[in-house]
Amino acid sequence: MKKKTIIIGIVVALLVVVAAVLGYFNNRPQKLDGGLKPGTYTATEKGFGGDVTVTVTVGSSKITAVDIKGDSETPTVGGAAIKRLGPAIMKAQSPYVDGISGATVTSNAVRAAAVAALVQAGMEGQAPAPAPQAQSTAPAQRKSETLTTDVVVIGAGGAGMTAALHIVDAGKSVILLEKRAIAGGNSNLATAGMNAAETHYQKEQGIEDSVELFYEDTMKGGHNLGVPALVRTLAEKSAAGIDWLDSIGAPLAKISTTGGQSKPRTHAPADGSAVGSYLVSKFLEQLEAKNVNIMYETAATSLLTDGGKVVGVKAEGKDADYTINAKAVILTTGGFGANLDMIAKYRPDLVGTISTNAPGITGDGIVMAQAVGAGLVDMEQIQLHPTVEQSTAALITEGVRGDGGIMVNAQGKRFTNEMGTRDAVSAEELKQDGQYSYVIFDQAIREGRKAIEKYVTRNLTVQADTIEGLAQKLGMDPATLKATLDDWNDVVDGKKQDTFGRTTGMPIALVKAPYYAIKVAPGIHHTMGGVKINEHAQVETSDGTVIPGFFAAGEVTGGIHGGNRIGGNAVCDFVVYGTIAAESALASLR
Ligand code: ADP
Repeated sequence: MKKKTIIIGIVVALLVVVAAVLGYFNNRPQKLDGGLKPGTYTATEKGFGGDVTVTVTVGSSKITAVDIKGDSETPTVGGAAIKRLGPAIMKAQSPYVDGISGATVTSNAVRAAAVAALVQAGMEGQAPAPAPQAQSTAPAQRKSETLTTDVVVIGAGGAGMTAALHIVDAGKSVILLEKRAIAGGNSNLATAGMNAAETHYQKEQGIEDSVELFYEDTMKGGHNLGVPALVRTLAEKSAAGIDWLDSIGAPLAKISTTGGQSKPRTHAPADGSAVGSYLVSKFLEQLEAKNVNIMYETAATSLLTDGGKVVGVKAEGKDADYTINAKAVILTTGGFGANLDMIAKYRPDLVGTISTNAPGITGDGIVMAQAVGAGLVDMEQIQLHPTVEQSTAALITEGVRGDGGIMVNAQGKRFTNEMGTRDAVSAEELKQDGQYSYVIFDQAIREGRKAIEKYVTRNLTVQADTIEGLAQKLGMDPATLKATLDDWNDVVDGKKQDTFGRTTGMPIALVKAPYYAIKVAPGIHHTMGGVKINEHAQVETSDGTVIPGFFAAGEVTGGIHGGNRIGGNAVCDFVVYGTIAAESALASLR
């Protein structure tokens, strides 16, 4: 009996080993060991914004060329992955390469299409594994390197890239650290535009505006919590920011408006592209042309100090630890909207709310700055954006409303001035049945705003040829939605006053079929609080003492947007304060 049990045990163990070995060979990444049919093969998969097509050319045992097309992918995210995955597949001679962190959907599409193309060529195929992130080297094999530069900039978002460009243009050396594999951070998500007053574009387009009005709108929009000197500087230097963007080949000529502004001053690319990825692409082109050392996948972990002065950074890359000695440090790590622990610490009421933030936006800079004595301001001021699609966390730009879109509740009725500030619109939305609403727009708005194409390809939109048809698809009373739009169009045509007091963002009536709706609800969007700075972007302790050698700009800082950020002011912030931080850092080198 005992012997029989032992034999059965041995047989079972052998079967397990055989099954494991077979499983391994079935699932292991395929190498191209010959037997391919020479030729060119193409396959297409769905990426983030649309189709991704991979064309591979093979000899009998070798991939000789890889061409990847994915024009609908966000250039600075999926586009960056596309750029790198072709050479990676060539080098590995396999489609089973690591995905690019932060661009998982595009990476998976490229890899799946490459597998499909190679299967046509005769490779034994299998579904690609989910994108593994490249592993860091084990501690024992890690190198330690010491680097020296004039200025180190931490975080390659809008503020960091702006600062780095100004430093290199002044002839000084700069290292730009970025913890993710792609640049752009939350700046990539900015869609509507950059607010600026008294610009040449406004003058050319007959728009009367003033720095004073911009200052007042920003203070008021932020519930007068903003620091006046910081807000004034933002407004005063905004037009120069637009001029600088012109000078680097990134003009923002199309002007619209966002909630809480009394004049059209939101500057965007002339062709209706989203401002964030447009600027990030332009910045990257410039940085690469000027040979700026952007160290990707390298996270700053702490600041180095010497006698109270900040003199460098410690950072961790994939294969090495770095000590970077610098004469000045500029902190541009963004906010903490993707750090649920920090959200819970400062705003427990927001736990469970979806976040629009890019994955790297985890408040690292705030923690590092605090450790060297920086003060923090307004940490509990966290903005909810009212139009976030909840299944994907996709941000539906305020520009859709600025171009004339409206919001209706589940019954098909408007419930607020859609051009109110984000906090006000979110608060009204949360009072509606189910705490959601629909953004409604028409074909004319779709044609004027490229971001909408992505919403359509990602299946976020419901569309119909008539307003009644749209209502039916949304499960609301057709007559109610029709009456809502008729009433709204009368307001736009000047036949009546709006019940909710809307007077901006109404250039056209909603009359051009098809009609569209996107279901939305509030999501965590911007952390207004952060590191304390003065108007020279110098970091200060809580009692207002300047910390030498230390500058900060962008969402990592607090005090500019007060209790609520106006749409279009984040881009203005990163351009204006990214520039100021660089100028102050440069001045400190002299
Ligand atoms: P801003 O608009 O202020 O420029 P962004 O969100 O656009 O802010 O960019 C911040 C960038 O900083 C992101 O690309 C993010 O990945 C990067 N980042 C955050 N923490 C670190 C860190 N510890 N080291 C390096 N880069 C970081």
